[in-house]
Amino acid sequence: MKTFALAGNPNCGKTTLFNALTGATAHVGNWPGVTVDKREGVYKGGNENVNIVDLPGIYSLSPYTPEEVISRNYILGEHPYGIINIVDATNLERNLYLTTQLLEIDVPVIVALNMMDEVEKSGDKIDAKSLENALGVPVVEISALKSKGIKQLMDRAVAMSAERKGTTVLKGVLDKQLETACAFYEAAGIKSSLFHAVKLLENDELELERKGAKQAFEEAVAGEDLEAVIADERYKYISSNLAFIKVKKAGKGVLTKSDRIDRVLTHRIWAIPIFIVILFCIFHITFSEDFLYIGAWAGIGGGLPALDDLELSEGLAAFVGIFYDGAVFSPGVILFNIFDTIFGLITDGIGGAIQTEWLSGLVADGILGGLFAVLGFLPQILLLFLFFSILEDTGYMARIAFVLDRIFRRFGLSGRAFMPMIMGFGCSVPAMINTRTLADEKERTATVRVIPFFSCGAKLPILVAIAGGIVTYFRVGNADLITYGMYILGVCSAIVCVLLMRNTTLKGETPPFIMELPAYHLPGFKNLMLHLWDKTKHFVKKAFTIIFASTVIIWLLSHLSWNWHYIPDEEMQNSILASIGMLVQPVFTPLGFGSQIGTFGWVFAVAALTGLIAKENVIATFGTLGACLISMGAAITGNADAILADEEGVTAAIAMIEATGISIPALIAFIAFNMTTIPCFAACATAKAELPEGKFKLTVLLWLLSSYIISAAVYTIGSWWWTLFIWLAVVAVVTTFIVLRNLGKFDILAIFKRKKKGEE
Ligand code: GDP
Ligand code: MG
Repeated sequence: MKTFALAGNPNCGKTTLFNALTGATAHVGNWPGVTVDKREGVYKGGNENVNIVDLPGIYSLSPYTPEEVISRNYILGEHPYGIINIVDATNLERNLYLTTQLLEIDVPVIVALNMMDEVEKSGDKIDAKSLENALGVPVVEISALKSKGIKQLMDRAVAMSAERKGTTVLKGVLDKQLETACAFYEAAGIKSSLFHAVKLLENDELELERKGAKQAFEEAVAGEDLEAVIADERYKYISSNLAFIKVKKAGKGVLTKSDRIDRVLTHRIWAIPIFIVILFCIFHITFSEDFLYIGAWAGIGGGLPALDDLELSEGLAAFVGIFYDGAVFSPGVILFNIFDTIFGLITDGIGGAIQTEWLSGLVADGILGGLFAVLGFLPQILLLFLFFSILEDTGYMARIAFVLDRIFRRFGLSGRAFMPMIMGFGCSVPAMINTRTLADEKERTATVRVIPFFSCGAKLPILVAIAGGIVTYFRVGNADLITYGMYILGVCSAIVCVLLMRNTTLKGETPPFIMELPAYHLPGFKNLMLHLWDKTKHFVKKAFTIIFASTVIIWLLSHLSWNWHYIPDEEMQNSILASIGMLVQPVFTPLGFGSQIGTFGWVFAVAALTGLIAKENVIATFGTLGACLISMGAAITGNADAILADEEGVTAAIAMIEATGISIPALIAFIAFNMTTIPCFAACATAKAELPEGKFKLTVLLWLLSSYIISAAVYTIGSWWWTLFIWLAVVAVVTTFIVLRNLGKFDILAIFKRKKKGEE
């Protein structure tokens, strides 16, 4: 069977075309050694069946990003029958840049001019025949989204002859140098000599690793720096030789629809306020318990009645409670409530059906409780991802990255780092994978390291429960304000850490921001759903594996004594978990939730520890331990049933506050610790895969240190306000050191190294 590889820029419609071609035959694997998805499938719509491989989206075939290396190695090493180069016709110039590189390889290429529906809608025309003549390879107009032109594309692809010699647009410019370089590869018997030769002239590190290449390189380029020259020549060729292809109906100087939208959305002053409003709307729709502020508005005129005041029958109250309680809930909260009600019914049904006490506890609290605590948040996380996917697919995110570039640059990052960071609010795992769009390794390392500080969906329940606990128990503050403040604390920590790293261990230039701004388009439904699934499957998988296992283990450890006897809730103090907790408890003393909070203080230590497996565990642990504390009479808040009925974990948090007598600053420090410490197991594994060799251990150390320092600061300043001055003094000293060192006046590391040498 012939194999065709789909190659093209990110967002050119590769995945859409791939899905249209392969339908149900597709399966997803991984490229060896990296976590980039590899999609393969079979196209059965033509005279013969062919294999289709979806290569990662790339702008070029240089050796800078893993995607580029994967695509390049695949095409050169795996010898596909041909390449289908997908070109976004609404962004021809930028997309053809990659085409000019693909043409240099000795492999049949066919160009699929995608998004022709958009082009036609805007009234432009593209002269595909002329483009075909100019490039010397077949060009077919298609619309992947509307499944138009796909059969023609595949028919012509299959009909291509298997032999093709590479061609280059650099002819007549670097002939002499190319000839020398080509000779080297031909002598070595390497296929696609033209492609390799051009790369060699570009000072390409993969080529220079080849035996004898260094010498050939020196000989060919003779001390010149050709990389920029070559890039420049490609663009020049495209704009002077291929510009005629695109005929604008409306004539020059008239703005397209995208341009007009951009005049507002990327406005010099308004772009960022507009973006903040959009973000706020997304969070409001997903998380607000007072949708459109109906409750608050009604409050001016006396307010809406609370659910309890309506005096409905039990069943009706449960139903109405899904949508309303003194205010109308947002769609996200309504979805959450629906899930939660269903889960509650299942848990009650199963838990009640089992007669044995310990088994019923294990199944209802240990297994179902933990699983549902996590899955309950799925609707809101899905909704959040859906909005982000829409922003991404329409092309808006790319623009925001562009707008924010100005600001990010001050902190030593480019605007591209923005997308992964904002995704971090959903889940660190896809966010870290998304850092692949950052070409610079140091910038990428810094970004991966701070992603956990952008409080992910799984940390939200911790915030909600403890903020709710503080407000209800101590009768101070405002839960929303505490939650919001913690998000900001996370973002500030990220900024400080990036500044620190970019000025010390990860110093380097921030690469210039070149990014294609795709034309705006309405996202396709099927595509959106696929993106959504792509992003949530990690989460679902996590719920059924890591979290499932760890809740069972926590339950077992909290209900087993050291001699493996079952102990009921009331005697939890004698459990294995309690003794482990007591052992590590002193470590947290400087943070306020250690030895000073007495006999039951270990529950906070255990919650923090279980969070290392998955952040959802913190709240699942709260539920389990809070219920036990009430059963054993250490806390008097309601009864254990109240905890299971309280899906937000506030009751459990109150029980823990009551039993330990923990202070408000210590509670806030506890949240801060969980927000900035080592992320969950899955995120750690991703970080290890995404970070350059040897950087992972340091990263874990950074997470540990930062969370420890941040929450110690929160606790001490909250407890004794004057310690603020001590912390400020420390910050001042550290800053001075770094500034002096960067000015070359004072090298603390050099002194240290000299000393070490002297000792040896
Ligand atoms: P990839 O990054 O190359 O895999 O691109 P995707 O397949 O994810 O497509 C990016 C965006 O372009 C999605 O919103 C698609 O719906 C949209 N898209 C893809 N093909 C077409 C097309 O032929 N016409 C239009 N109007 N939109 C398209
Ligand atoms: Mg894709």
